[in-house]
Amino acid sequence: MAYQICINPDCGCKYEIDQVLHSCSVCGELLDVDYEWDSLPVPDSLTYFERYRLNSSGRIRNFSGVWRYYDLLPFLPTEKIVSIGEGRTILQDAKFVSSFVGVNSGRFFLQYEGLNPSGSFKDNGMTAAFTHGSFVGAKQAACASTGNTSASLAIYAAVTRLMEAVVFIGSGKIAYGKLSQALDYGAKTIQIQGDFDDALSRVRQIAKEAGIYLVNSINPFRLEGQKTIMFRVIDDLRWQIPDWIVVPGGNLGNAAAFGKAFIELHKLKLIDKIPQIAIINSTGANTLYQLYGKGESGKLRWNGGHYDKTMVKNFYDKMTNESRKAHTIASAIEINRPANLPKALRTLEFCNGVVREVTDQEILDAKAIIGAGGLGCEPASAASVAGAKKLVEEGIIDKEQLTVCILTGHQLKDPNATIAYHGTDQNFFQETLGKFNIKSAQHANRPITTPNVQNEILKFL
Ligand SMILES: *Cc1c(COP(=O)(O)O)cnc(C)c1O
Ligand SMILES: [Zn+2]
Repeated sequence: MAYQICINPDCGCKYEIDQVLHSCSVCGELLDVDYEWDSLPVPDSLTYFERYRLNSSGRIRNFSGVWRYYDLLPFLPTEKIVSIGEGRTILQDAKFVSSFVGVNSGRFFLQYEGLNPSGSFKDNGMTAAFTHGSFVGAKQAACASTGNTSASLAIYAAVTRLMEAVVFIGSGKIAYGKLSQALDYGAKTIQIQGDFDDALSRVRQIAKEAGIYLVNSINPFRLEGQKTIMFRVIDDLRWQIPDWIVVPGGNLGNAAAFGKAFIELHKLKLIDKIPQIAIINSTGANTLYQLYGKGESGKLRWNGGHYDKTMVKNFYDKMTNESRKAHTIASAIEINRPANLPKALRTLEFCNGVVREVTDQEILDAKAIIGAGGLGCEPASAASVAGAKKLVEEGIIDKEQLTVCILTGHQLKDPNATIAYHGTDQNFFQETLGKFNIKSAQHANRPITTPNVQNEILKFL
């Protein structure tokens, strides 16, 4: 009923659900999980899912905000599901942030994935990957990570004890909140010289050779779990489809999963409107933006699956020759070779999408506004809000359009960025942010230093 299938339309090779593959063994393209929907009990309306609104009754569909939508990712029987209560996240009507972005109040929402057990959206995917990995009997699971995938893998391993966690991280590139999680949850943590792109290519090789289960987003099962972020968004909007979904783009797993979610909902006739998607890169890691552009012709397009692989290869070769490395304060999207690029192109085509880049300065300014609105996030997450603001300024997003930005990770993941921005220590500011060309902190909320004298303190109140 469920199987894996190569996304290359000229190949279309199918594989059984219990095969462990990172790509098509015939043509090397990415794989999808797919379903014989006709033989599955698909609900005839989305309101069906309301019976599974979350409570802790111990039933998996009420316990997990991912598996609540089981009918839309039924790749294994429910009794095989491995869950730690992920996906219990919120959609906030973000009135304060809306005026910064320029969208009318009541039309702008933040989907706060920082509320997941490990503090980022990665748990949506990890529950699905763990479900599959345990099903195939793997004993060890590995990932390369800019931090959050490793935190997520580590927490699933610690709670479930089903697979041992092995995490590969680049040198000096990981925010302390994330590293502390991997260590605290007991993951085997291997720091290698190089950045995320180096770590990912290494772990792909090692996983294959040592038979370790890989949980990076090239794992198609992980993306099945991440589809549910979109299901929760529209569920919380009482099944209204937004005009815009805005998401940061790193390895492009979310971009891939969100598009697949809407492709399937549409195919199953559960929706008739398709939202537009905006994928936001940081200028310091802008491969997708460079290749896709703002919408010009001659740029890279999915083209029904016949995208220009030579264009990608030439771009990557050029990066190699110039030793160009991703460099951004938004460490979770500090990725120059996004593994899910083809799937993101597919999403952009189906969702009539756009791609933009934002500077680290714009990211941190947006982050401060998001924080002031009450939902703290890490720098990468704020790229969505900075990008939405840009698209409103360009007239691409209209101020009346229903817009949802995804806040991918929690504020406490990277406290250094926050303290450097708001604090008064110029050296710490320079050391932490200077190298990312951040010059000002116009939305800083400066701590006040004063002698411990009542009259002195009262002056500030
Ligand atoms: C992983 C991650 C991203 C990037 O997501 P992709 O799906 O790889 O594009 C963005 N923000 C945060 C907080 C992340 O952890
Ligand atoms: Zn193939």
